[in-house]
Amino acid sequence: MTTPRRAPGGFPVIGIVGGGQLARMCAGPAAELGLTLSVLAEDPDASAALVVPSSPVGEHTDAEAVLAFAAACDVVTFDHEHVPAEVLDELVATGVPVHPTPEALRFAQDKLAMRERLGELGVPCPRWARADTLADVEAFGAAVGWPVVAKTPRGGYDGKGVRVVDTAAELTDWLERAAHAGTGLLLEERVPFRRELAVLLARSPSGQAAAWPVVETVQTDGICTEVLAPAPDLDPDLSARAVEAGLRVAGALGVTGVLAVELFEVEDTDGEPAFVVNELAMRPHNSGHWSMDGAVTGQFEQHLRAVLDLPLGSPRPLAPWTVMANVLGGDYPELYPTYRHVMARDPEVKVHLYGKGVRPGRKIGHVNVSGDDLADLRERAGHAADYIQGVVTE
Ligand code: ADP
Repeated sequence: MTTPRRAPGGFPVIGIVGGGQLARMCAGPAAELGLTLSVLAEDPDASAALVVPSSPVGEHTDAEAVLAFAAACDVVTFDHEHVPAEVLDELVATGVPVHPTPEALRFAQDKLAMRERLGELGVPCPRWARADTLADVEAFGAAVGWPVVAKTPRGGYDGKGVRVVDTAAELTDWLERAAHAGTGLLLEERVPFRRELAVLLARSPSGQAAAWPVVETVQTDGICTEVLAPAPDLDPDLSARAVEAGLRVAGALGVTGVLAVELFEVEDTDGEPAFVVNELAMRPHNSGHWSMDGAVTGQFEQHLRAVLDLPLGSPRPLAPWTVMANVLGGDYPELYPTYRHVMARDPEVKVHLYGKGVRPGRKIGHVNVSGDDLADLRERAGHAADYIQGVVTE
């Protein structure tokens, strides 16, 4: 295993388990802050391995590989939440600081545990239940009305692991698999939301916290395609309550690093704006990519500062609006020509690509653009993202 080369001056080495784009986007801020990164990558061509010199190859499920990797690091954090609990326990036992801690991370790994804990904290959630049998699903559907949203408690992303069903029978295969794994399924009422929002904040081990403005996230086919920062026309009281809930969750769960709280904006029984929490992510998050160019401190820099227990940077926006549009893989694997065109057409658009091979629907990059005119920014960000992926050619 290669040992990361330490910068002189007493600066720590931060280890990130997982070599995806989130680890990759920490590389720029780490370099600027004079910190050394090391990444445990799934393979030598992983997104982060292409830009981080110390990128030993190993699986996040392999305790031996994770421990050997961590031995050369001063703090360990994560690119994703899929490291198994047994591996996390062994990692913590070595004495290396791990952020977020396994106790906190559990609530981002397991949606049933998350729902239970948020309920205890009095945070508004959709009505939910655990289902182990068809009868459980029938009973829940009868109580909240069909359709019902079913989720696998672990391992879902980009809408994989979410199914909207009109009958219990549609969940027969999932129930069998859940019974086999001993996990159960999470059932939720289908929330008639107005739109999706996200609270993003960072919290350090000593308890300092800083929240960015609440954003609107736009999903297409279960995948986030666009983020508007801040969320347009958001009721100031709702915004304050959402941020308060996010900070309370972060404090109560002992979250360290970046926390994203995904919300549905709804109307309460009086027709007033309200929210319910969809899910938690304890890492930099797609809803925070705008902050790389649109805030004094971007989420990747802030995550590094938080896991090192450094003072946090200001989350203040630099412009009235920033729009982020995801670049999803399309039919054309050659991105270099299209990205040249985007740069020429609109020098204010900031392009971020992840060094990933193109597969249809895969998140391969994003663009940010900031300014005063939201409609104009949306048009420009959308055009740039579409052009890079070859959806439009003009
Ligand atoms: P993932 O972990 O795969 O991102 P989510 O739980 O965030 O899964 O769900 C993906 C999308 O499915 C959400 O962004 C939302 O659009 C929709 N969704 C999830 N839960 C509900 C619900 N209870 N009611 C209505 N829509 C939902």
